[in-house]
Amino acid sequence: MTSSLTNIFYLIASVLLIWGLKGLTHPRTAQRGNAMGAMGMFVAVLTALVTETDLHWGYIIAGVIIGGSIGTYLALKIEMTAMPQLVALFNGLGGGASLIVAAIAMLPAIDADFSAPGLLLPVAVASVVSIVIGAVTLLGSLIAFLKLQRILRKTVVLPGQQVINGVMAAAVIVCMITLIVHPSPEILWGLIALSALLGVSLVIPIGGADMPVVIAVLNSYSGLAACGAGFVLNNNVLIISGSLVGASGMVLTRIMCRAMNRSFRNVIFGISMGGKQVDQSDDIYQGKIKSTSADEIAMILESARRVVIAPGYGMAVSQAQHAVRELTNLLEGKGIEVEFAIHPVAGRMPGHMNVLLAEADISYDKLKDMDDINPTFAQTDVAIVIGANDVVNPTARKPSGSPIAGMPILDVDQAATVIVIKRSLSPGFAGIANPLFATDHTLMYFADGKKGVNEINTALKEA
Ligand code: NDP
Repeated sequence: MTSSLTNIFYLIASVLLIWGLKGLTHPRTAQRGNAMGAMGMFVAVLTALVTETDLHWGYIIAGVIIGGSIGTYLALKIEMTAMPQLVALFNGLGGGASLIVAAIAMLPAIDADFSAPGLLLPVAVASVVSIVIGAVTLLGSLIAFLKLQRILRKTVVLPGQQVINGVMAAAVIVCMITLIVHPSPEILWGLIALSALLGVSLVIPIGGADMPVVIAVLNSYSGLAACGAGFVLNNNVLIISGSLVGASGMVLTRIMCRAMNRSFRNVIFGISMGGKQVDQSDDIYQGKIKSTSADEIAMILESARRVVIAPGYGMAVSQAQHAVRELTNLLEGKGIEVEFAIHPVAGRMPGHMNVLLAEADISYDKLKDMDDINPTFAQTDVAIVIGANDVVNPTARKPSGSPIAGMPILDVDQAATVIVIKRSLSPGFAGIANPLFATDHTLMYFADGKKGVNEINTALKEA
């Protein structure tokens, strides 16, 4: 293939990737955007394999079949609630791939010695940057995976954690410079090991509600590592796709930081919001919890004029979205206004609630962002909280003392009546008690999300 034909295919791939990203900005066009992005990546990889290697077609087809089968299996099997773990793993593998490419590219260069005048210096710089970011992403993502999978349950904060991180970062920089000036296999391995340790040390102290931001940051890092590998291989489409992932990951990180009220600098340097996880549930709940039934909820809803539904992780676990759509239809049939309050980090991935509600054909116009819905809670007769906990926890309003301190929440407690549907008084992701459940105007309906909503629907139909 001629180099101009190669560049035309790379251009087509880049346009598809950019178009795909544009499609992902709205739930209505997200599926199309995803397909375009996948197509763009397929064109890019195929073009690279055909033009940059002399691989036999049989190997390429075998790779497509094996990779495609693994991807299809994962896409069909993975639970929606396990998406962050999968994304963390993908980020890690992306970082690992860039690390391997950059390290292999260094080996002949080590023999040639970078210090020879003007020789390969830009490649050397791109390689060491890609090695560092790739190793940090690989190990950081694996730790994030273990934490999200609840295999690693403890948040480990060493005394002087920030000093340790600072010293390690300085050592990494010294190693990078040494590798460029006096390249040797020992320094290369040392740099990989130090960067991997830095990845562990940056992510291991982060816990509680900070994990979504960490995943967004690691996603961005994996893009930056790929971009570096693109410079190493002198491959334009890898540079473009890496920068797109890096930049969109940064934008997502900013959005998440704002949603969580976290400083970007603190997340980048792994400074946790902290807060002791003291179990105060007995003090908060003792004698103050009022439980209710489907029939009582139906009666309350019958006399409401405006209802706001605040969904959370429990709606995803119980797959209650279709029952929720039926509830919405029943209420609207009775002339009651219904809207949805969508918190940016409700569930376990950005946009989790939007995806589930869209799947149940609930109109996008009813889905209101936190900033739009919060001023309306004071005029809301009933707020129904389905499987949400942290995102409606008033403890977050206190500036310190809890893992969710300072995180903006849905102000459901301002509604005249709050109905919470969940199975027990168990805490959410952040592991802390929720005073909302103990307020005078909150009624707890202890049930699985889907089963509970279906029972309310039955009671509404019979009313
Ligand atoms: P939470 O994790 O705070 O709470 C979920 C609640 O759902 C639990 O208290 C649980 O209570 C209930 N639940 C579980 N299963 C069911 C079921 N079958 N039926 C009904 N209820 C159920 O969820 P939120 O959505 O409020 O908050 C999200 C949290 O996750 C935040 O802390 C956020 O930072 C974090 N996070 C978010 C990510 C994102 O990108 N969105 C990524 C990673 C973490 P019970 O067991 O009593 O039923």
